[in-house]
Amino acid sequence: MYADVLIQYGVKSLDHTFTYHIPSAFIGQLDKGMKVSVPFGKQNINGFVLKIHDNAPTGDYEVKDITNIITKELKLNDELLQLGYYIKNRTLCTLISAYQTMLPTSLKVQNNKENYDLMLTYVKINKDNQTVDEYIKNNKRSLKQNELLEQLKKGRILKKDIKSKSCLNRLIELDLVAYEYESVYRINKSSLDKDKPQLTDEQKNACDTVKKRINEYDTYLLHGITGSGKTEVYMHLCEEVIKEDKCGIMLVPEISLTTQIVHRFYDRFGSDVAIFHSNLSEGEKFDEYKKIMKGEVHIVVGTRSAIFTPIKKLGLIIIDEEHSSNYKQDNMPRYHALDIAKWRCEYHNCPLVLGSATPSLESMARASKNVYKYIALTKRIGTSKLPSMEIVDMAPEFKKRNMVLSETLQLEIMATLERHEQVMLLLNRRGFSTIINCQSCGFTYKCPHCDITLTYHKTSNHLRCHYCGYTVIKSDICPECGEKAIRDFGLGTEKVEQTLKELYPSYRIVRMDADTTSKKGSHEDIIKGIENLEYDIIVGTQMISKGLDFPKVTLVGIINADESLNIPDFRSGENTFSLLSQVSGRAGRADLKGKVIIQTFNPDNKTLNYVLKNDYLGNYNYEMDIRKKLKYPPYYYLVLLRITSKNYEMASKESIKVANYLRKQIKNETICLGPTTANMFKINNVFRFQVIIKYRREDNLFDIISELDRQYINNKDVNLEIDVDPLRI
Ligand code: ADP
Ligand code: ZN
Repeated sequence: MYADVLIQYGVKSLDHTFTYHIPSAFIGQLDKGMKVSVPFGKQNINGFVLKIHDNAPTGDYEVKDITNIITKELKLNDELLQLGYYIKNRTLCTLISAYQTMLPTSLKVQNNKENYDLMLTYVKINKDNQTVDEYIKNNKRSLKQNELLEQLKKGRILKKDIKSKSCLNRLIELDLVAYEYESVYRINKSSLDKDKPQLTDEQKNACDTVKKRINEYDTYLLHGITGSGKTEVYMHLCEEVIKEDKCGIMLVPEISLTTQIVHRFYDRFGSDVAIFHSNLSEGEKFDEYKKIMKGEVHIVVGTRSAIFTPIKKLGLIIIDEEHSSNYKQDNMPRYHALDIAKWRCEYHNCPLVLGSATPSLESMARASKNVYKYIALTKRIGTSKLPSMEIVDMAPEFKKRNMVLSETLQLEIMATLERHEQVMLLLNRRGFSTIINCQSCGFTYKCPHCDITLTYHKTSNHLRCHYCGYTVIKSDICPECGEKAIRDFGLGTEKVEQTLKELYPSYRIVRMDADTTSKKGSHEDIIKGIENLEYDIIVGTQMISKGLDFPKVTLVGIINADESLNIPDFRSGENTFSLLSQVSGRAGRADLKGKVIIQTFNPDNKTLNYVLKNDYLGNYNYEMDIRKKLKYPPYYYLVLLRITSKNYEMASKESIKVANYLRKQIKNETICLGPTTANMFKINNVFRFQVIIKYRREDNLFDIISELDRQYINNKDVNLEIDVDPLRI
């Protein structure tokens, strides 16, 4: 018997199978989709078995034996094996990169994670046939020990849940309790016996629309304003799917969001939920994956990669905040979770629900053509009203030296704090200040490896590159002219935090950004703290903008709306609208009235004024008009080809070749732009050029690009990256 193995070698030219012999010991054990290790050249390499057959390979080379089976239980099933080919064709990636993306990292590395069992101790009473009460009465034990015995009387307890380990150890020594080991998943939750809310008419209508055709593939766009109860609709639909004994996948865009939503799902569904995101430990990931493989859960909640969970009877996929750019992967394979979701829902004949308060232009355009079924939730739940909004012009404020907080915002913050309510401030830039230069000679600190200025992080007194991580210690002396004239400008979340501390010294302030949430569990801690009213003011990056539901937050301030508007990208208007609407939606979600203040130097900007009026459709029509004129999605499709090299000349020369080649091959009505330098011209010492293709219909385009790709397969100096449907150009 032989196996065709796709090896994991990271080289495009080797993205095909090699035939190996299956040693007799593995016959009957080895199956398609399993990960094996095989000899390749002088080394052993991992790979996936794509086919098992009897045909000895022809040709005069020695057929080698498969060395080892790496995982037997966890393998790519037929669906995922097929899906790999779809991803390869859709995103023009290597097949191996598609398969590697599908399995969690704990399985990518070849370490032994089989002992997923935690050694947890169970404890129980057994002594001289006395009841516990008799024992406690007849013996003088410490208060703590008696308490523990009382507790144990009621049943077994996990060792990790016992506070005083020394007390436990003493009781074990005295032979009063016995313990045993039991395998337990690292994450264990149970549901709460809470009453489910009665669905509103709008929610019921939304659920019914999907339920009517729960066994058919179709895509639904659930357009619900913030606080309109989308999550409740998701949970209701999940219940429906569970009734059919099928499973659902629910995607959320960010880990910070999994915290709150997952808890709502745990409260409703308990141990029927598995979670999946990159902040889990390897062991937790392995456990969650096992629950899914063994069919022990019906619902999977997770970030982008959860779209690949190998559920056998899939009955529903939900993508929450469907407009989020996090659903597209930035490196190979550059897939969009929405495409994968469509493929899988079609495969399983089940509905796909896309939810958002601000659907992407693409999705809304599809809904308007009835390609997606459109469902609207137009009202907030209960008496909660949308917040009132105000734009503040920062130009006069700067003259008054109010660089961070305008007078209006300062007054509103104080009023909110005095009402014992919470304030949330958004600034989509971490660090302290973003430009550091010399007042004497004009020198500006830039990353030596990237085309970007360094950001000053005051807490660590470092200047840091947000692309490659390069850091230097900040000094007051200019490295160029030696003058003591280094000043810093530009705003980051750290500076906002400091300003707040100076202005509101008696209030509790928390910062939530990539720097304060890098430690495992720190997201949860901050979110719990906000929920428990341990903080009065929350300042954060876009991390705080989506989905979070804090009833006491009544004031939201956007520190600098221009930050997002000024990004040179065709989507910046659309993205700004959704970012600001989303974060505004955090204000006044319960009975308390909310207020939003937007600070800007462009008070007349159209996008900001649509945000102000809460006019999604107005903004949609405005943006669609621009896209049509400029030939951007959703009117045209895009492919971005990025030509990169450490050698500037080579990158430049090859990018011209690429553009010329494409112009010769493509149809007349297809547009080929470039080459130009990419937005970030240099990252990590690599120079980046790009060519953009805009097309409406081009039957052979992917063949043409694949052929071009092949020309660069063995080029060690110049790399060609292909991004189909790029989110940024
Ligand atoms: P969205 O996800 O659309 O922003 P949520 O699902 O978070 O909105 O709902 C907002 C709030 O309203 C939540 O606190 C939720 O528990 C509550 N809620 C949702 N549906 C109902 C309902 N039918 N009755 C009462 N409360 C509800
Ligand atoms: Zn850098």
